[in-house]
Amino acid sequence: MSLPILDEPRTPFDGFRDECGVVGIWGHAEAANLAYLGLHALQHRGQEGAGIVASDGLQLRAMRGQGLVADVFRDRDALEALAGSRAIGHVRYSTAGGNEAANVQPLMVRYGGGGLAIAHNGNYVNARSVREELEAEGAIFQSSSDTEVLVHLVARSRQRSFVNRVVDALARVQGAGSVLVLTERMMLATRDPHGFRPLVLGQLPGGGWVFASETPALDLIGATFVRDLSPGEVVVVDQDGLTSFHPFPRTKPRACIFEYVYFSRPDTMLWGKDVYSVRRELGRRLAQEQPCDVDMVLPVPDSGVAAALGFAREIQAPFELGLIRNHYVGRSFIEPNQRIRDFGVKLKLNPVPGLLTGQRVAVVDDSLVRGTTCRKIVRLLRAAGVAEVHLRIAAPPTVGPCWYGIDTPTREELIASRNEIEEIGRFVGADSIGYLSLQGLHAAVHEGEDGFCDACFSGQYPVLHDDLQRGPQLPLFAEST
Ligand code: AMP
Repeated sequence: MSLPILDEPRTPFDGFRDECGVVGIWGHAEAANLAYLGLHALQHRGQEGAGIVASDGLQLRAMRGQGLVADVFRDRDALEALAGSRAIGHVRYSTAGGNEAANVQPLMVRYGGGGLAIAHNGNYVNARSVREELEAEGAIFQSSSDTEVLVHLVARSRQRSFVNRVVDALARVQGAGSVLVLTERMMLATRDPHGFRPLVLGQLPGGGWVFASETPALDLIGATFVRDLSPGEVVVVDQDGLTSFHPFPRTKPRACIFEYVYFSRPDTMLWGKDVYSVRRELGRRLAQEQPCDVDMVLPVPDSGVAAALGFAREIQAPFELGLIRNHYVGRSFIEPNQRIRDFGVKLKLNPVPGLLTGQRVAVVDDSLVRGTTCRKIVRLLRAAGVAEVHLRIAAPPTVGPCWYGIDTPTREELIASRNEIEEIGRFVGADSIGYLSLQGLHAAVHEGEDGFCDACFSGQYPVLHDDLQRGPQLPLFAEST
């Protein structure tokens, strides 16, 4: 079904802007340490908080904190104290306010049935209304995360078996969720029926199981890739081994196409294809659709590198690393005081002296969101003496925010949601600008039977946000009566 472009909902929870990565280890004496390593491989999926919950079969133990994985787990003794052969881990990025510490995952609770920990990558679009229902029945929430809704639903389910409780809870939420659940006795992994976010299964050399958002987490700990979990699949691991079932009605798969464009690591095998090759192909097709006559092709590092390589090969121009990135300035960088503020992009990128003077350059990036980064890059290049700057974007214009777990700004902030491409070119100050077409993007990922979610580029949202179904006039949190 083709949906119209809609006004965006208001942000119900921090979860609306969450980006996350998850890892689970079952059946290894060093489970927490392996989860810790796996989280390092997934650090790009979230830099604001990290956590691990481990189980020794009798008890769950947690270690969580704000910051990068290396900072949160600096205390080696505390990590060693996460005893047991099973563990789940989570990295998280969230831009919205709220009590950040309470939102760090895995969430861990004790309920009538014992201990329960949940790590979630994605965003549930009906979390607010489910939360309001639960609050009206007396539930008390400790965080503003949409994942906590799931915890309450599991605890309150009337199903008898634990697995059925989780399935019951998952059936109540809509939207994106690659989820890991850990109790004292079992681990459960699932992808939502649309399969928005990735989740893979791997096997450790000694026979243990691994779940991870991306395959580099398996590579790092020496695990072998077994397969992707399929959309709507639930996999349970316990003392009897591994079982898989599909308890939810089947629906059209909607894997996130932006994972290929930007979010996943280039060395990830994602849904049967390596991300690096897909990005190079995006660049090749971009060059076919939007060629230009230049002396060299520069990537915006690191996000534009693979696409720029494909672009340069196709137009047969030299590929040059004309912009050098400082890798030690992260997203969480806090600018100094007002007087010396606004280093802007210079903090991250610096042109190579001499290389660019008098040159006509094509600059290739993976995507353009607000347009502010490219505008600064164009200025930087002109100051370095380039003769012409031709901006090429290896994705279609970003016209809609993501409701399913990628951090995109509001629609107003998305430059392509309110401007024609020529106006964007003028804003960034480029001599020319060109985007890849939506058809080009789909052709590059070789869409087969399975569909992708391209809502950020097409405005076609496969699952409506709850706020839109309920109308725009409702208060943020309805008062419980
Ligand atoms: P902007 O200045 O907002 O146009 O930023 C564009 C840059 O942000 C591009 O270089 C992208 O690689 C990068 N980008 C795109 N989406 C995201 C995201 N969800 N999180 C962080 N960076 C992103």
